[in-house]
Amino acid sequence: MQIESEAPIRMLLIEDSEHDAEFIGMMLKRAPEIEVRIDRATTLAEAVEACQRDEFDIVLLDLGLPDSSGTSSVTRMRASAPRTPIVVLTGDDRSSTGMEAIDLGAQDYLTKQHMVAGVLTRMMKHSIQRHNRLIKAQSEALRDGLTGLANRRAFDAELQRRLSDFQRHRHPFCLALLDIDHFKSVNDRWGHDVGDEVIRAVAGELNHNLRPTDHVARYGGEEFAIVLSMTKLVDAKNVILRRCLSISDLVIGGPQLRVTVSCGLAEIRDQEDSGTIVSRTDKALYAAKHAGRNRVMLHRGAGVIDEFQPNDSVQRLVGKP
Ligand code: GH3
Ligand code: MG
Ligand code: MG
Ligand code: MG
Repeated sequence: MQIESEAPIRMLLIEDSEHDAEFIGMMLKRAPEIEVRIDRATTLAEAVEACQRDEFDIVLLDLGLPDSSGTSSVTRMRASAPRTPIVVLTGDDRSSTGMEAIDLGAQDYLTKQHMVAGVLTRMMKHSIQRHNRLIKAQSEALRDGLTGLANRRAFDAELQRRLSDFQRHRHPFCLALLDIDHFKSVNDRWGHDVGDEVIRAVAGELNHNLRPTDHVARYGGEEFAIVLSMTKLVDAKNVILRRCLSISDLVIGGPQLRVTVSCGLAEIRDQEDSGTIVSRTDKALYAAKHAGRNRVMLHRGAGVIDEFQPNDSVQRLVGKP
């Protein structure tokens, strides 16, 4: 996606009329303030295909197409290219059509009767800038400021996605909740800044050493949630034990601190919803704390909880990553 580079703007022009397409092409070619590379689609189906193939900086969408008409085209394009700004071209002089297009996710609209080069290029530039700002704000709303990890809201959404995947395709997954042990005493003894450094170090360890398909989030203060996709409990246990060991090996900050973590772990079960797996995992975490911390507890359902400690034998057994 283009931000403020000198590269030409990549535009997808969705316009069935040869005459209008040529006119727009000429206009943009002559505009000195902007360099545009145009790909053209003459139907919505072609446009959807183009968006699957390529990434564009902007879409210019005619609302009168052979296979789609009116603002339903906006909805379909929005779904096909959620990260690309859309400017709508309408032959309809009523502003209500344009406003409806904006309500459906278009950045702006232009009636063909009023199309002049200056207005079109200004609109394109502003739409790209506005959309980029929006995407940035949306992605910041899902990030934790201290660690850069996904936040609780992003985690909730990810858990729902994994749950739908499980219900539809039986793809298993596990949930881990991991909490730093005696963290309050780190803050009390060394101060909040060192506490923050510990949280960042643990976050970094988790983030850099799990598979890209695993989803790590900061769940709360010194607590992390990990969704391990396509993973059965026995494999998740080994992955998590390795991570717990690595965390206890970290030497953090000026005071050269070491911390341990406790972890609860559970695999999704039939008929389970997100609240239930979170609650089972939380119970296992609580049991890990209660049993003395620095350990992983597996919740196997029906209240059965197994305990594993990230000790040297485990390290030898599973090896370092
Ligand atoms: P346990 O082993 O039972 O988990 O004990 P704990 O001390 O880790 O747990 P407790 O819940 O008593 O304390 C958590 C502390 O984490 C209290 C809170 O002030 C601190 N905390 C929460 N968020 C942050 C943060 O962003 N930065 C820092 N430095 N501290 C935080
Ligand atoms: Mg048309
Ligand atoms: Mg804690
Ligand atoms: Mg806690």
